[in-house]
This record gives sequence, C-alpha cells and structure tokens, in this order.
Amino acid sequence: MWDYSFAVQSTFILSLILVIYFSLPRLSIRVNRIFVDLLIIQSAVIFFDIVSSWADNEYETMAVSVLYLLNSIYFILFYARAYLAFVFTANVFKMDPFSGMLRALLLALPVDIGIILVCISPWTGIIYSIEAGGYHAGPMYDIIYFITYFYLAISFIVMLTHRKNVNKKRYWYSMLLFNALMLAGIITRRAFPMLLLMDSFCLMSIITAYLTFENPEFYLDLKGAVFNTNALKDYLEERNGKLAHRLLGVVIHNYYEMRDIYGGKQMDAGVTLISRYLTESFADCNVFYYRRGRFIIMGPSDLNFEKCIEKINSRFEQPWKDEDIELYLDTCYLTVDLVGEISSLDGFFNILISNFEKADRQDSKVPVAISGKQIENNEYEVSVKRALEAAVDEDKVEVFLQVLVDANTGKAVGAEALCRIRDLKGELIPPGVFIPIAEGNGRINQLGEQVFEKTCEFISKNDMSKLGISWINVNLSPMQFMKTDLAKRYESIIQKYGINPECIHLEITEEAMIDDVFLRRQMQAMQSRGFMFVLDDYGTGYSNLTRLKKCSFINVKFDMSIVRDYCSEPDEIIPNMIQTFKHMKFGITAEGVETADMVKLLKEAGCDYLQGYYYSKPLPMDEFVQKYTIT
Ligand code: C2E
Ligand code: MG
Ligand code: MG
Repeated sequence: MWDYSFAVQSTFILSLILVIYFSLPRLSIRVNRIFVDLLIIQSAVIFFDIVSSWADNEYETMAVSVLYLLNSIYFILFYARAYLAFVFTANVFKMDPFSGMLRALLLALPVDIGIILVCISPWTGIIYSIEAGGYHAGPMYDIIYFITYFYLAISFIVMLTHRKNVNKKRYWYSMLLFNALMLAGIITRRAFPMLLLMDSFCLMSIITAYLTFENPEFYLDLKGAVFNTNALKDYLEERNGKLAHRLLGVVIHNYYEMRDIYGGKQMDAGVTLISRYLTESFADCNVFYYRRGRFIIMGPSDLNFEKCIEKINSRFEQPWKDEDIELYLDTCYLTVDLVGEISSLDGFFNILISNFEKADRQDSKVPVAISGKQIENNEYEVSVKRALEAAVDEDKVEVFLQVLVDANTGKAVGAEALCRIRDLKGELIPPGVFIPIAEGNGRINQLGEQVFEKTCEFISKNDMSKLGISWINVNLSPMQFMKTDLAKRYESIIQKYGINPECIHLEITEEAMIDDVFLRRQMQAMQSRGFMFVLDDYGTGYSNLTRLKKCSFINVKFDMSIVRDYCSEPDEIIPNMIQTFKHMKFGITAEGVETADMVKLLKEAGCDYLQGYYYSKPLPMDEFVQKYTIT
C-alpha cells in the first residue's frame, strides 16, 4: 500500500508558494521562466503521484487503461522534473544547455529514452506493469533512478565548471543545497518507495531556490510596484545584443529639494504612486526604478518617445494624491536607443547616471538623448581599458623609438621611447587614448616602469655607438614623478641591466612642476643617481620662466603646436625665446618636424635637435636597429 500522507502535506506547502509567487510581478528573464516551469511540473508531479498511487491502491475497482495512463503520466513528469532541475541549474550558472543542436539533443536523450520506455510499458512491462495483483515494477524500473542521477551529475559538473558565473557565493551554496536535496530525495525514494518522500525533498529544493534568489520581491521596489536596479541589470544582461530596445528615462525634477519640501515619507508615498501609474500606463513595457526619483521605461524598438512624454507630462500637470498626501512634481527625460551589444554594462550604467543628472540640471522637457556614439565611445574606452590591463599584467607593453637628430648635421644623436599597446585584433592603440586612462586608474606607474625597463634592456643589448645615438628619452608622467620611491626603483632597474644612467634622459611636463619643493627634492634625488631631465611639451602649459630657471633641465622640447605655429608664420618670439633658454644653459629640441622647410626655419631659429616625421616616425625597436645601425 502506498502512503501518500507526505505528498498531501507537500501539496499544501506548494500551493502556498504558488499563491505568493504568482501574486507578484515577475521579471521576465530566462531563469525565472524556468523556475515557473519547475513550479508547474512539481505541482503536476505531486498531483499525479498522489492520484496514481491512490489508483494503484484501488486497482481492483479501476480500469487497467486508466491505471496505465495515470502511471505513465506520472513517470513522464518525473523525468521532466529531473531534466528541468538541470536546465534551471545550468541557467543560474549562465550556461545555455541548448546552445548547440548536438549538445541539446544529447542532453535530452536520457529523458527521451525514459519516455519511450514508459510509453511502451503497457505492452512490454519494461518499466512497470499492471497485472492481476495490481502495479508491479518492471525489469528496467531502475532506469528512472539512473536518469535522475545522470541529470544531477551534470548539474554538479556545471556548478563546478561555471562557478565564476554566479556573482554571489550565497547563490552557489543555495544551488548546491538545491541539487543535494534532489539527490537526497531520489536516494530516499529508492530506500522507502512506499512513502512518496521524494516530492517533499524536491519541494525543499524549490523552497531553497525561492528563499535565496527566486522570490520575486528581490527584483521589486517601492512596495512591489516596479522592478529595481538589480532587475534592470539582470534584464539587460540577458537581452544584451539580442534585441533592440528603447529606454525612456523619467526623472523627478529636483528630487532632493522636493524631498526636503514634502518630507521623506510623503515623497516615498508619491514615488510609489508614480511607479504604479507608470506600470499601469505602460503595461507593454517593463518599468524599473533607478533610485533617487528616476524611472526607466524599457520598451520595444518602436516605442514612441514623444507620445510617452506627452502622456506623462499631462499626468504630471495633476497632483499626486493619496489619503493624506498631495504632491506637485515635475519631470525631465532622457532617451536611449539600444541597438548593438554593450560590452560593459557597468559603463552603460555610468552613462545613464551622468545623463540622468544632466537631464535634471537642464530643467527642460526636451529629453537628453544618449546617442549610439556615446555608447560606442564608452565601449571603446572599456576595450582600451581591457587592452591596457592585459598589456600591463602580461608585460606586453611595446616600446617604439623615434629618432632625434642634430639640427646642424642632420645625424641621429638620440631617440625617444614611446609606448604602444594593441587591441584584441592586434591593432595599435594610440598613446593619446590609453595614457589618460592609465593616468586615471593608476596603471601609468607600472606601464611607465615597463617602458623604462624595456628601454634599459634595449640599451644593455645594443651597442649605442653603432646606432650613432648617445641617449634615449623616456617619458615620465606627472603621477609617476610624484612617487617618493621613484629614484630607488629606477636606480635598481639601471643596476639590473648594468647601464649608465646618463644614457637615459627623463622627459617631464610642466604638469609635474606644481609643487616647487617636491619638484626640486625629487629632481635632486634622481640627479644624484645620475639621471638627467628634459622638459617636454613646452608651450602647452602655464610656463613660468622663474621656476624653470631653478630646475636643472638639460633640454627643453618645444611642443609641436608652437613649432607648427612658428613655421607657418615665423616671428621674433621663438628665436628670442630660444636665445633666452640658451643663456639658461638649456638645449633646445623642436618636436613635430615634418618638412624640409620646417627643418630650415628651426635650424635658423637656433634649435639644437629636431624630432619629427620628416626624419622618421616612431619605429619598433628591431626596425630602429635595422635602420640606424652604422655599417
Ligand atoms: P610626446 O612625449 O610629446 O611624444 C611625441 C609625440 O609626437 C609622439 O606621439 C610622436 O609620435 C609624435 N610625433 C613625433 N613627430 C611627429 C610629427 O612630425 N608629426 C606628428 N603629427 N606627430 C609627431 P605618440 O607616440 O602618439 O605619443 C603621444 C604622447 O603620449 C607623448 O607625447 C607622451 O606624452 C605620451 N607617451 C607616449 N609614451 C609614453 C610613456 O611611455 N609614458 C608616458 N608617461 N607617456 C607617454
Ligand atoms: Mg615626450
Ligand atoms: Mg612632447
């Protein structure tokens, strides 16, 4: 006799979960949809488990065909549950079990075989049979266990191999418990088949997932009226690049001021009313609350922004009234057309936030439009950041050398080391793009040191006299220059390669010269170790001659902007300036020399050294060696 008292109890608990679950709005993402399927299948399994067990108990009064039908449905649902529990696990771990046709077919094969064997059982008795004494297990009955073990085993494999795909440890443990309870269920079923205990274990699995991350409340805000930021993140992550979307951002104008005026409690009640209004009025869209009085209405690619704004504006002309509140609020808007794939959602959210602020500041009903270009630029910046991280971490920063020539003889005398990194396709990224990013996130220190070390290595491996050069200039960013351990670090690198520090000239810009006391202390610390300094990009900053006088530069490099200016309209200023610098004992280099005419003019103006495309573009180290080795 089957004892279905456990199963009946499980029905009550499951019904309770179903009522709570379906009474709340649910975010339509894959993992949630699978969870709904799992709830439905679990309900059906329990129902048919009870009904078929009851029918088997009463077999004498039941038609054989009814018994076969009920038992077969139960077994099919039993397999479906095991399969779906695996699909659920895979989705939580962001693995798509249906991504390849072959993979999908192979994964579904055990369940397909199981169903076929059940369906032919009325004739073969292979899984079970109904005989004179009622229900009997067949010779291949154990297959139902093996199929369940199979799906549990691959669930555990996915959990181990895709562990990094869940961002919270809690999710990982909860999925471990989810599958462990399923396993406990199947083991108990084998040990006590008459008790129908497995349903209770499966229910515990479902409750585990529900309590830890499947409760719809986790995705809701403002008393369940709208989806929250987490929901927006997960929703965008799943749909990223797959579908075109239009986003309309709605900002309560001067949210904080309004909060001060009306008080927090009233304002919260008002925002809740607004969120209800938006969800009801835009039932075809998903409405998200992005904190601080900002909403996002996410709709299809043909969402009509003007009409939506008109509709919301006319509603906001009326006050927001409830039992004891009456709020008069105003709105601003932003619009986004999402077409391509976003490679960094965090970057996209940063754009959203800054544009929400912009919309609020500009205090106008005309929406701020986030253009595809803006998203693209952000994407580019993210890809540069990644390339930068990879290049620095894997020591793949490349150093190019650009020759410096003596203005009088036209012969190579030195070179400047200029760093390069590559994107994923192997294309060079210009330093003008990645240096500011590296300065922004502090990577410039490692990057600059790698360039310095590679230059030292180059000097130690190559005979400089054979290349006709006496020194190589290395750029030092203001941030690096501010590091108190710079002198020690650079000295140890020089010693590692056994080279003379005079072979290296360090280029700094005026930006590094903000703090006079520190500047002099740092320069002295470096100079006492044999390093020499060059002032780079002269003419771009706020030059201060008195300050320059106090610093012992060996050379001042005129930035290409003033060089070009002078060459296109020669005047007396530059030659006079050059003479002044020469009195101060500074050598002079002109950057950005591109033509023979420029060479002539700059030579006449008194420049000592010239650098520019006229002589050579920056070259990879091996090409530089090939080009400048004196034979
Ligand atoms: P910079 O130090 O003033 O370097 C000179 C820049 O002018 C180089 O650009 C060089 O390729 C470019 N240039 C030279 N001659 C000509 C010319 O005739 N015409 C034109 N149009 N350009 C010319 P690059 O290599 O793109 O570097 C740009 C800037 O990035 C550098 O300006 C420097 O400030 C920075 N940078 C490059 N490498 C490093 C590095 O290792 N560390 C640091 N901190 N900054 C670096
Ligand atoms: Mg430079
Ligand atoms: Mg320069």
